Amino acid sequence: MDDDGMSGSTRRPPATAPGPAETLGAEALEVFLRFPSPLAIATTSGVTLLVNDAMTGQFGAVSPIPESVRALVRRDDDRGRVALRDDGEGGVVEVPARLVRLRDGVLLMIGGPPGEPGLDELASLRDRVSQLERLAATDHLTGAWNRSYFDRMIEAELARGVGGQHLVSLVLLDVDHFKRINDVHGHATGDAVLRELVRCVQARIRASDVLFRWGGEEFAVLAGSTGYRGAQRLAEHLCAAVAAHSFPGVGTVTVSLGVAEHQPGELPADWFARLDAALYAAKEAGRNRVVVDRRGKSDAFAGGRARSPLHLVWQEAYECGEPTIDDEHRDIFVLANRLIDAVAAARDAPEVFQAALDDLMAHVRQHFADEEAILFARRYPQLETHKRAHAGLLRRAEFLNAQAAAGEATLGAVVEFLAEDVVARHLMTVDRAFFPLFEHAGPA
Ligand code: GH3
Ligand code: MG
Ligand code: MG
Repeated sequence: MDDDGMSGSTRRPPATAPGPAETLGAEALEVFLRFPSPLAIATTSGVTLLVNDAMTGQFGAVSPIPESVRALVRRDDDRGRVALRDDGEGGVVEVPARLVRLRDGVLLMIGGPPGEPGLDELASLRDRVSQLERLAATDHLTGAWNRSYFDRMIEAELARGVGGQHLVSLVLLDVDHFKRINDVHGHATGDAVLRELVRCVQARIRASDVLFRWGGEEFAVLAGSTGYRGAQRLAEHLCAAVAAHSFPGVGTVTVSLGVAEHQPGELPADWFARLDAALYAAKEAGRNRVVVDRRGKSDAFAGGRARSPLHLVWQEAYECGEPTIDDEHRDIFVLANRLIDAVAAARDAPEVFQAALDDLMAHVRQHFADEEAILFARRYPQLETHKRAHAGLLRRAEFLNAQAAAGEATLGAVVEFLAEDVVARHLMTVDRAFFPLFEHAGPA
């Protein structure tokens, strides 16, 4: 792992750095400097960051930004007249100006043809700037997002999660024995492998996942709303997909992957260090595999909630990785919550309670049958024990049903049945015994 790769984001000063000259990139800078109209980029507080050749030729460095320009910025207007010192005439001239608001500042454009300043010119410049912003955030070899964009992105992502329950995980992926690929096939082929790898990974992540080039032959996937279990499934899926992919001219290439979920209050550098350690462990263990740092707030939520909830809250920790089972488990939660709501209204509307209970029971029966069929197909060795657990649950449910029919079902009895028997005992303990069956399955 590159040293700078690990520490960059915590050391980078906020907001104003790096300046536009660095973030625009060489090509963008060229376009800006040669643009026919006088241009300046300034912070909203009025510090001049960059001026182009046309500007310096006519009006000098416009530093500090004249008060008339600041007034325009403050007015929240995007056009007006500003007073600038004309370098040729020596005096102050009033000229038409336009502002384009950027993420951290403004782009000032002076004049254009007499009357209306060049609208088309400005529109095309605006397009060009956003194109260039994208370019400046892109890794030129592979088309993945680059590291400097990652650093900006990660701040925003972590800010979203402060104090909340927002989950975010990183999958770090490093090509196995990449040096050998370079040595045997040449650097150009090595480059082609990296591009192909990005295509392969990009095609297999969700639209909300973001793929970055972390450095060299290392890439990272930032997965929002995902705990380490979800990220593990993603990583296993990517690991298998890369190993099964044929890389032109090279054949098989494998990757090792580390997974870490961000923990509350954790500094990015500490998070990345755990991620790096997981990747290192995957290398040590023989490569072409995933190692997960199994720490995360998803577990804390799950543990804290299963006790005596009024509503059941679905946790990623309940997912086993088999899509049908997971979907049905989720539906149980929805129906169970409807039942809990119905208990409160049971005295006034006993039929609502009964309907909610019937819905849940029908679903649970169907789910048990589906789950048993899936486990049978997977040759689950404890299937008989598991079936008995299901039968026991259904008996408890019948008992609850009889209580309800006699008008004796209380919120306590329903919650106890759902939270204790179904969720805490069955889903969190009995079901978990078969989770390893699906751990390496990954999404289809
Ligand atoms: P390991 O399985 O332990 O990861 O072995 P490795 O050979 O992949 O790891 P190492 O870090 O020793 O080597 C990485 C190599 O990647 C060294 C470097 O020359 C090469 N590399 C980094 N960036 C690029 C690039 O953009 N293009 C090419 N072709 N090679 C690159
Ligand atoms: Mg490496
Ligand atoms: Mg490598």
